[in-house]
Amino acid sequence: MGKKPKKPETIMDRLVSLCKRRGFVFQSSEIYGGVNSCWDYGPMGVELKRNVRDFWWRTMTQARDDIEGIDAAILMHPEVWRTSGHVDGFTDPLVDCKKCKSRFREDTLEDKVCPNCGGELTEPRMFNLMFKTFMGPVEDDASVVYLRPETAQGIYVNYLNVQGPSRQKIPFGIAQIGKAFRNEISPGNFIFRSREFEQMEMQYFIHPSEDDQWFEYWKEQRWAFYQELGIDEAKLRWHEHGPNELAHYAKAAYDIEFEFPFGWREIEGVHNRTDFDRSRHKEATGVDLSFFDDQTKERFVPYIIETSAGVDRMMLVCLCNGYREEEVKGEKRVSLSLSPKVAPIKVAVFPLVKKHGMPEVARKIYADLQKHFKCFYDEKSAVGRRYRRMDEVGTPFCVTVDGDTLEDQTVTIRERDSMEQIRVASDQLVSILTEKMA
Ligand code: ATP
Repeated sequence: MGKKPKKPETIMDRLVSLCKRRGFVFQSSEIYGGVNSCWDYGPMGVELKRNVRDFWWRTMTQARDDIEGIDAAILMHPEVWRTSGHVDGFTDPLVDCKKCKSRFREDTLEDKVCPNCGGELTEPRMFNLMFKTFMGPVEDDASVVYLRPETAQGIYVNYLNVQGPSRQKIPFGIAQIGKAFRNEISPGNFIFRSREFEQMEMQYFIHPSEDDQWFEYWKEQRWAFYQELGIDEAKLRWHEHGPNELAHYAKAAYDIEFEFPFGWREIEGVHNRTDFDRSRHKEATGVDLSFFDDQTKERFVPYIIETSAGVDRMMLVCLCNGYREEEVKGEKRVSLSLSPKVAPIKVAVFPLVKKHGMPEVARKIYADLQKHFKCFYDEKSAVGRRYRRMDEVGTPFCVTVDGDTLEDQTVTIRERDSMEQIRVASDQLVSILTEKMA
């Protein structure tokens, strides 16, 4: 048999390889052969992930008076998932190829044949995406608990616990960041779809008569967020869910989609969840989850507008949006044009050469900058190579100490995307860099 021709390397292959080589993302349990669709984040990845989360958290909570934070447990009472409809309804249609035995999610296939071999497919079976485990030592039906498939329910069941102490009045929201688990039928595209991932969800409680206007408001807010993150607007679009796509709880849903190298895909959903969840929880527990407006003397069950995004998916958006390959002076330059808001390292500090007292001065500058930014110090190899290494991990600024620094206490700041250098007084560095990063 002849050798199979090697598939040409795609942009995605090169991005995945950069992520591995530079310490962003690795396959989970790699030395055991890896576990499918679970990922570990290395030194660069963990910083990027933390910055994505922090930016979302600051936007949602610190910058507003009307949203409170929460951190609920992953394991919840199993009745929560029956009440919310997930036990019966959180399913995807699963089909098997009768010939090559591959498995697919039927609703993602364009034709009704196997995309691998053209074989005939079985009739779809509904497959529940929730992971189950057992609470306590006995593994029986009575001890089944679920790993949460969304963070939203942790917010709904804690509504009174948050609303009381915070003294918030409707309209107001609750935000949460945390892990979610889905036993996806066809995970893939690197960290785009995995079985363990993190969500950033915000539930905004409103008067039912104002749902359309708040829905529009949150659509605008979430679109603006991606502009602030520096995502190319030409690579973003809205997708409205048709009646067949709407989740069991939603009256209206729009996804923000991003054009990944593998096509347009959802990155965030804005949903009008009506009073579905609250009414169901009220019915199941008997706990009154309605709201009494002291001014209008009206009692009502609030509607909910939800914004739901994935941390891992947003990281992938930043990576794909920022990945650049170009030729500079006959050499290939690879860079990640990440917003300074999320870049893992904000500033690198170099002495031009490892002599003439430059390392000592550079180390002192480094120590000062470290109090303000995540920095990196490097004195090995030619300065051009050091710049390239920082470009690859998306560091927006490099500060270099050279011969002139020793004379006049000035340094250069080199900007990643333009590669332009400016000379500034070293005691002005913190304020200049802070301004550039804003
Ligand atoms: P899809 O149709 O792609 O399966 P969904 O519509 O079920 O997604 P939601 O339930 O709306 O997704 O989840 C909200 C967000 O959570 C998504 O926009 C995405 O950013 C993130 N997310 C959902 N599932 C996954 C996953 N398996 N891996 C990574 N992120 C995910």
